[in-house]
Parts: sequence; structure tokens; C-alpha cells
Amino acid sequence: MKELICIVCPRGCHLTIDDNNNVTGNMCPRGKQYALNEITNPTRMVTSTVKVDSKLFKRLPVITSKEVSKSKMFEVVKALDGIVVKPPVYLHDVIIKDVCGLGVDIIATRTILE
Ligand code: SF4
Repeated sequence: MKELICIVCPRGCHLTIDDNNNVTGNMCPRGKQYALNEITNPTRMVTSTVKVDSKLFKRLPVITSKEVSKSKMFEVVKALDGIVVKPPVYLHDVIIKDVCGLGVDIIATRTILE
């Protein structure tokens, strides 16, 4: 048996998964799917920053375009090392296409014009 707190929405239901993968404690079906994903292939959005060659800012905040496997998160963050973005960069610009061959892009989460 395993216990989890669902992070899909702010309600934060306390979930229990028994040895037969029956999920209880979820207030909606998304909680069941979250629990089953957590015990098979847990995934997360990765948020971080990259260097930006700007007069006003040192770092550009970025996020993955989709969730990535938790086992690949370190690899993704490592791929951001050494990246230097030149302004202008716009919200939702792709900073790295297909990072680590995962089929996921690294996306800017703010605009920096200079
Ligand atoms: S089970 Fe549903 S209601 Fe409960 S926290 Fe997860 S998403 Fe929200």
C-alpha cells in the first residue's frame, strides 16, 4: 500500500493505492490517473532559468513544454547549463527544441527585449 497527496489541483486529496492498484481518497478521476502514473512513470514539468545577455536581467525563466519523466529531470536541467540567450526573447519562444531527445521543448516564460 502506498499513500500520496494528489498535486493535480489545490484540493490536495490524500490518496491510497493498494497492492492491486486500487486507488481511494480521490475526489475525481484525475486523482486516480495521477496515482497510477506516480507508481509507474511519475512525470513533472521542469522549471528553471538560463543565462540571458541582457542589460536588465541575468536569467531568463523557462519551462518544459510538457511534463517529463522524473528520471530525466536532472538530464534536462543539465542541458540548460551553458545556454546564453540573446534578447529580444519573447514569452513562449522555444529556447531548446527537443531537449535531450525527449520530444519536449524548453520555452521562455517571459519577454526580455534588451
Ligand atoms: S483527486 Fe481530483 S479533486 Fe482531489 S486533488 Fe486530485 S485533481 Fe483535485
